[in-house]
Amino acid sequence: MSALPIPLLGQSLSALKDWAVAQGQPAYRGQQLHTWIYQKGIRSLEQVTVFPKAWREAVQGYPVGRSRVVQRTEARDGTVKFLLELADGQLIETVGIPAAERLTVCVSSQVGCPMACDFCATGKMGYRRNLELHEILDQVLTVQEDFGRRVSHVVFMGMGEPLLNRDTVVQAIRSLNQDIGIGQRHITLSTVGVPRQIAWLAQQDLQITLAVSLHAPNQDLRQQLIPSAAHYPLDALIQDCRDYMLRTGRRVSFEYTLLSGVNDLPIHARQLAQLLQQASRSGVQLHVNLIPYNPISGADYQRPHPARVQAFVRQLEQYQVRATVRQTRGLDGNAACGQLQGSFLRSLPGRNAFASTSA
Ligand code: SAH
Repeated sequence: MSALPIPLLGQSLSALKDWAVAQGQPAYRGQQLHTWIYQKGIRSLEQVTVFPKAWREAVQGYPVGRSRVVQRTEARDGTVKFLLELADGQLIETVGIPAAERLTVCVSSQVGCPMACDFCATGKMGYRRNLELHEILDQVLTVQEDFGRRVSHVVFMGMGEPLLNRDTVVQAIRSLNQDIGIGQRHITLSTVGVPRQIAWLAQQDLQITLAVSLHAPNQDLRQQLIPSAAHYPLDALIQDCRDYMLRTGRRVSFEYTLLSGVNDLPIHARQLAQLLQQASRSGVQLHVNLIPYNPISGADYQRPHPARVQAFVRQLEQYQVRATVRQTRGLDGNAACGQLQGSFLRSLPGRNAFASTSA
């Protein structure tokens, strides 16, 4: 069986020029193709009206690498969640989050996730496979197309653990920057931590923001919530974050999902502040993002009362740790953290992409 052609989406300007030349066309056709793929967002080569008709017809079946939108759900706050079907029938989700001048896309990096965090819907689904380069970039182009405006920010906070698909994720970051035109400082990679991978990322000379999912201020509690943390002691994780900040000069943000009565008590705020003070002793800046838990089915946690959330912020401030509460967007459209996919699949009789692994 011959190998499938590599999709055009994800290819650099020079690779597209080479492709055009290999097809017997002048190199500037590759330049045109670059604009039509990344700026105009074509879904097939048939749409490239600047190409000679005969050539367009000859190459029309060549894959651009776009995925199919199978469901679109808009929440009252304007957040739009998309369920995308990949070429092999797998489903992933991506979210477009509009705010004043910003348009942020929350992208997935894997189908499912093997990390199994206890409060995360994707974690309950298990792992299917890594996403390919075009499948990551497609999510951004899909949101751009739907909103009819440029995406300004990208966060790797959808399905999956990006550092388990690190090479493709870093290629995607470079392409988002060079081909789609999104500033590296407007790109955030969120990780729960995978041994040795933060050090590797620090060497990639990127100017992105690293966000680390902490969720607990001590090793025991962290291991309860995040099984994979058993292989990555909290001290080692914090040390790696510190090295990352020193090497890249970029501040790290720490995510902390607040689970009522589990990790949101004054003792946890104090432990968290002490832990982070260790990291910032060298003068580097850090920031805490508090995420009130979004209830998911199959997990027995509660969202803390807003007063408790505010108290947690004040307790951290007493120890000079700055924290912001991340507003939950898209809750009514079922567009918060890993929810759409599950409910969509449940609504389709006889179809469950995660049948073998879902809780
Ligand atoms: N695998 C990456 C990206 C996950 S999604 C990571 O772990 O960082 C981005 C953030 O949302 C993570 O901090 C994740 O732990 C958090 N999250 C997942 N499910 C959640 C839920 N139900 N409520 C609140 N935050 C959640």
